[in-house]
Amino acid sequence: MIVAQPIAPYHLTPTRPPYVEVLVDCPGSEKLFTYAIPEELEVEPGDILSVPFGSQQVGAIAIGFRSSPPPDLDPTRIKAVDDIITRGFFPPHYWQLLEQVADYYYTPLMQVIRVALPPGLLQRSQRRIRLNPEAITPGAEQFLSPIARRVLALLQNGKSDHYSATYVQQKIPGASRGIRDLVQRNYAQSYLETPRPAQPKLKQAVILIDVSPIVYTELTKRQKEVLIILRRHGGELWLTDLLQIARTTRPTISNLERCGCLVVEGREVLRRERGVSVAADGAKDLTPAQSQALQQILQQSNYCEMLLHGVTGSGKTEVYLQAIAPILAQQKSVLILVPEIGLTPQLTDRFRARFGDRVFVYHSALSEGERFDTWRQMLTGEPQVVIGTRSAIFCPLPRLGLIVLDEEHDSSFKQDRPAPTYHGRTVAKWRAKLEDCPLILGSATPSLDTWLDCRQIHPQRHYLSLPERVQARPMPPIEIIDLRGELQRGNRSIFSLTLQQELRRLQETGKQGILFIHRRGHSSFVSCRSCGYVIECPHCDVSLSYHHTHEGASQLLRCHYCGYTRQHPRTCPECGSPYLKFFGSGTQRVMQELARNFPELNAIRFDSDTTRNKGTHRALLTRFAQGEAQLLVGTQMLTKGLDLPSVSLVGIVAADGLLNLSDYWAGERAFQTLTQVAGRAGRGDDPGRVILQTYTPEHPVVQAVQRYDYAEFVEAELEQREALDYPPYGRLLLVRLSSLDGELVEATAMQMGEMLQEDGARSGEYEVLGPVPATVLRVSDRYRWQILLKFPSQDRVELQGQLQRLRDVCPPKVRLAVDVDPLNFG
Ligand code: ADP
Ligand code: ZN
Ligand code: ZN
Repeated sequence: MIVAQPIAPYHLTPTRPPYVEVLVDCPGSEKLFTYAIPEELEVEPGDILSVPFGSQQVGAIAIGFRSSPPPDLDPTRIKAVDDIITRGFFPPHYWQLLEQVADYYYTPLMQVIRVALPPGLLQRSQRRIRLNPEAITPGAEQFLSPIARRVLALLQNGKSDHYSATYVQQKIPGASRGIRDLVQRNYAQSYLETPRPAQPKLKQAVILIDVSPIVYTELTKRQKEVLIILRRHGGELWLTDLLQIARTTRPTISNLERCGCLVVEGREVLRRERGVSVAADGAKDLTPAQSQALQQILQQSNYCEMLLHGVTGSGKTEVYLQAIAPILAQQKSVLILVPEIGLTPQLTDRFRARFGDRVFVYHSALSEGERFDTWRQMLTGEPQVVIGTRSAIFCPLPRLGLIVLDEEHDSSFKQDRPAPTYHGRTVAKWRAKLEDCPLILGSATPSLDTWLDCRQIHPQRHYLSLPERVQARPMPPIEIIDLRGELQRGNRSIFSLTLQQELRRLQETGKQGILFIHRRGHSSFVSCRSCGYVIECPHCDVSLSYHHTHEGASQLLRCHYCGYTRQHPRTCPECGSPYLKFFGSGTQRVMQELARNFPELNAIRFDSDTTRNKGTHRALLTRFAQGEAQLLVGTQMLTKGLDLPSVSLVGIVAADGLLNLSDYWAGERAFQTLTQVAGRAGRGDDPGRVILQTYTPEHPVVQAVQRYDYAEFVEAELEQREALDYPPYGRLLLVRLSSLDGELVEATAMQMGEMLQEDGARSGEYEVLGPVPATVLRVSDRYRWQILLKFPSQDRVELQGQLQRLRDVCPPKVRLAVDVDPLNFG
């Protein structure tokens, strides 16, 4: 595609500032550079420019104007912007947001930009030069400047009839003046080639064809199954989706194609992530609580924060959907942030069913091309709904009418590393303020931060509540099983007698259930029965976990920290004994025990091992929703937003791993996770049942979860936080140090600890906890130490100076990172 270059304005406004500050796209360059704006260019912040940098021409982003050159710079040495490559890559106050993030998270602006903008943005638009041979009269070159003459010669003698400006500039230093001369004389044309793919992208779709009964009877059982699945999906699926959902192979499909049962054909696709087509759906009649919440939302059109506190299954999503419709009608767009892409297939389907093609998905798992195209698409300003994970908060939607953070309590909104260590919720608040639009924070178990904010009386904060499930369905009763009692009764299975009974009942009734396992990275390990040797990662201070994804797959040992993988050894590496035993209660162990004791129950494993590839979340959930299996067995991922009416049983295999974590918000997280898991049951006609197994039934979190008593739990928790100055009352900042050299990093940590101690004691602004080694000292061969700073109030303390002093004393071999408002202390 060819885009005309912006035409120089006739009247140059005299007030136009002469300089522009830009970020150049050059590895390692982290600061702003000042360039002069040539008269003929009308540069605006947000434009992507081409500028001379050293001996190169590089891409750059215009950030802001300057009326005078920086004092330390000789004005005659300031170079001029070469050209505008693309205009307006972000809305006007977008920069303020990025600067706010850079500032609050103590991160160079360039690193924030790397998170915010799609990768490769700067290199993708190319300026090209083409000669106009018919306009060049013989002998004309003698009127040209020497530099223009050289450019002309290059273009005339080359093999191609057009060249990229970068190429010309590489061949001829200072070529841009010459190019401009040629263009002014109409001897050459300069045009932008935008990075559209030359060929439309084709994707294979499978379409069902009517099959004659004679052919049908000849098909194998497996082939018939594939056809049935295809029919169930409206007779059409992307080939990749069909292969996954039907668990079949390309040859099977080809055979079916040969029999004339279906055709496979290439279809053009826009590079945006598309769901399987969904049936359209209209607005539901709201319950009284939903409609009250909706009314309150619709009254707001300016910046405010609303907590939508609705128990699991109370219909929060329906409220979002109905709040969005009028905003799209006003030609504005909506941003929906969700914690993880694992729960988006179901959620995006619901949005697509309501808003069709106006729904876009944006997250880091998209391909570069998809992200880039979606980004450009957003800039058109067409009213739309963008659903994405935390980085989508940086989507450049020009007219934002509403931001929604669904499951706002979820810690996946927080980036632990690399910098900026931002929290999607914090940035969402700033963005809502800048755009002057409302922000809805939705959750069944709000974070303590949000709860504290929204229970205070404040004109810009509102509390909306959905205290009941839709259709007045009861919350599923939670039964607590004391695992100590099971041992006494001689039951050594990981399933209590009650849970076994429920699983048996599942088998009889054909209903569905979910088993939740809280797995920490090193909860499973392999050890030798003869000598006790535990197989560890050679690069980290953790034991390796046993992995066996499916029948026939090789048995592997994997490190959850660095990804190191090795074959399961036949004999003990230490003593040679063949008696290796696998310990732990991960998902695999549960699957094995199920297979042994309940062979008729089909189970699907749903965890990070089985959902590694793009699209597998959807495929596994689809298979479960279609009743292919009766049990879904998994970790954390199960807690998030699954809405399956046929699930009547939820079993929490062991809650203790969650209860015994040691950081300041362990209680909050345990309450949230357990409540969310429990909330997957009883969403259909069957009221459902939750079995929670634990060794500490008297634990206050377990007690509160059982009573569904959020408010009481939170108030008790807040009291403790307040007493100890922990968030949301105080603030935390974590300094992380790591190095391949264990002694060096320890010494550095000690030195920095002392510096901070002294400074904190003098200013009284913060307390220093540590230095301490990280829970797992060594990861990927790097030794890790931490220093935690605790601030007694939420007021922001400027630490730039202190951090700079730390950087100054930090040896090159030690890596220093700062995590503001840390949630992960591992
Ligand atoms: P939450 O997000 O609060 O857990 P959901 O939005 O997933 O709850 O709603 C739970 C189920 O109830 C969904 O299947 C949804 O379609 C259905 N639902 C929501 N609101 C209504 C309503 N007003 N009438 C009927 N069904 C509803
Ligand atoms: Zn051994
Ligand atoms: Zn490792």
